[in-house]
Amino acid sequence: YQRLRDGLARTRDNFTSKIDGILSFGRKVDDELFEELEEILILADVGVSTTEKIIDNLKEKAKEQKLKDAEKIKELLAEEIYDIMEAKETSFKITQPTLILIVGVNGVGKTTTIGKLANKFKRDGKRVLLVAADTFRAAAIDQLEVWAGKNNCEIIRHEEGSDPASVLFDGIKAAKSRNVDVILCDTAGRLHNKKNLMEELKKIYRVAQREFNEGNIETFLVLDATTGQNAIQQAKIFKEATDVTGIILTKLDGTAKGGIVISIKSELDIPVRFIGVGEGIDDLQEFDSEKFVRALFE
Ligand code: GDP
Repeated sequence: YQRLRDGLARTRDNFTSKIDGILSFGRKVDDELFEELEEILILADVGVSTTEKIIDNLKEKAKEQKLKDAEKIKELLAEEIYDIMEAKETSFKITQPTLILIVGVNGVGKTTTIGKLANKFKRDGKRVLLVAADTFRAAAIDQLEVWAGKNNCEIIRHEEGSDPASVLFDGIKAAKSRNVDVILCDTAGRLHNKKNLMEELKKIYRVAQREFNEGNIETFLVLDATTGQNAIQQAKIFKEATDVTGIILTKLDGTAKGGIVISIKSELDIPVRFIGVGEGIDDLQEFDSEKFVRALFE
């Protein structure tokens, strides 16, 4: 929890401290106050539509309760955000052999996240296999190999330029014969060539469906928190091409845009599974919305 709270330091500066600043004792609860609050939320990347929803609800509650004391607004705001964040989803557990496709734009932290996930699953006692299906860049394959080494887990790789779907095919075959619990499959993320990328992902997914029990296939979309609202746009693009089952939000440590989590929860119907709070192998946490809201406001 402390790591999460520390990780959110810049978001807290940009968001919580500013809110504390305007909600001082004696401040009148009026339109001006709500306008300032709205601006703070938007600047923290909560997103325009989500912010409007929150502010409308706050205004209504303030009116109902005939609120005079601005300090009370903070409590109401935390409740409002908690309502949005409240997870209906259960936590992510590996109970049967699972294939996790890791998708996302280049640079968001896919490879690093695979390294961190491999570490986590190994600590949980699982047998892990990495599949290097980002065959577009030799560096990506080598980078994955480094993570395989650090985690002491197996990797299936082909040479640069080979067909990503066939790397996955070999990966699944190897995983079955070696009793692997979790396959983590890296994929390419060159969004400037969107059409090809989406075709490639569809092909990978078809192989996954054909060769693996469909109920045990996950597609985790990695998003970079520092890109703010851009991340929402990326998610919408990937959602069109693949059945995204979970989101991993990286680089929450370095950003003041942590409000993006609220936006993701409100605007996309996809559970946030993990968050990245640093570059190290242990800097990955299972996402817990209650903890997140507490770490933001406490
Ligand atoms: P990929 O192109 O999507 O595979 O991205 P990489 O895994 O190569 O990561 C790009 C950069 O982001 C690297 O320098 C990583 O160390 C860094 N990175 C990844 N996750 C995090 C995170 O949670 N926090 C921070 N601060 N940096 C991260």
